[in-house]
Amino acid sequence: MLPVVVVHGGAGVVPRERSDVSCKGVQAAVRGGYTILREGGSALDAVVEAVTLLENNPAFNAGCGSVLNVKGDVEMDAMVMDGRTLASGAVSAVRNIANPTQLARLVMDKTSHVCLTAGGASEFARAMGIQEVPQESLITDYARMRWKKNLGPGANPVESQMGKMGTVGAVAVDAEGNAACATSTGGILNKMEGRVGDTACIGSGGYADNKVGAVSTTGHGEAIMKVTLARLILFHMEQGMSAAAASDAGLAYMLERVGGLAGVVTVDPQGHWAARFSSLQMVWAAAQNQKLHYGIYSGDQFTQVIDDTH
Ligand code: ASP
Repeated sequence: MLPVVVVHGGAGVVPRERSDVSCKGVQAAVRGGYTILREGGSALDAVVEAVTLLENNPAFNAGCGSVLNVKGDVEMDAMVMDGRTLASGAVSAVRNIANPTQLARLVMDKTSHVCLTAGGASEFARAMGIQEVPQESLITDYARMRWKKNLGPGANPVESQMGKMGTVGAVAVDAEGNAACATSTGGILNKMEGRVGDTACIGSGGYADNKVGAVSTTGHGEAIMKVTLARLILFHMEQGMSAAAASDAGLAYMLERVGGLAGVVTVDPQGHWAARFSSLQMVWAAAQNQKLHYGIYSGDQFTQVIDDTH
């Protein structure tokens, strides 16, 4: 059954005109991660690759395509976690880099810390030789239009809390049974400068532990943090629930307790996986046993054979 990789492209509402590009984006990302797993690569390499591909795709709220903060700037959060050792790395409110997930991995691999923020994260990126990119290269016309539209009295609180297009994340289990997760986001629309969401917080935006599995989350970050959603789901799995049942239980608790909507991708160490959400939609894709599965509405599960000839 192993290996497996599952990705999401954000919980919320996917506008009709963007659903095709979002579905194609998660499929390409899951294929990228799966190729690494099939070649014997680690779960950690697979999730970083899948999330990097999604950060580079302007259809998603991460890397290029990130939503803007209230001042019109891009500040991004990202995390990675390795279920072998519980090593984890994160960056928050980081600017001017294309791939925050890769920087989060460097925080994990090259420092004794778990999270670096804002200017300190940028300084670390420079020290690691990561090229700075102009902010303009991360901002799409769509992101700027939504920022403008939601400034001032015309602001739509639902749109600001629950993005229309999403944060990205991935979970994987490799052929050796190692679990990993990665999550990356521009955050929520028109957030205050310096706001840090769940994505940079280990246990909220994601968690991976070889003994239980891995989770990557998306949704209203403030609500996700209140219930430490990723760790809550793994707790339910430790108590014997399946990946799907534990994901549903965590999402239901979050809705009932703090009224927040979210979505998750979850795997257990045997390779059972789930893509579940309480929001209207979440674009997701999974690859396992040479098959690609994907969906966007609750109950969807379309399947294709992964054909290596193209
Ligand atoms: N969880 C992200 C945040 O609050 C947003 C999202 O997943 O859409 O920063």
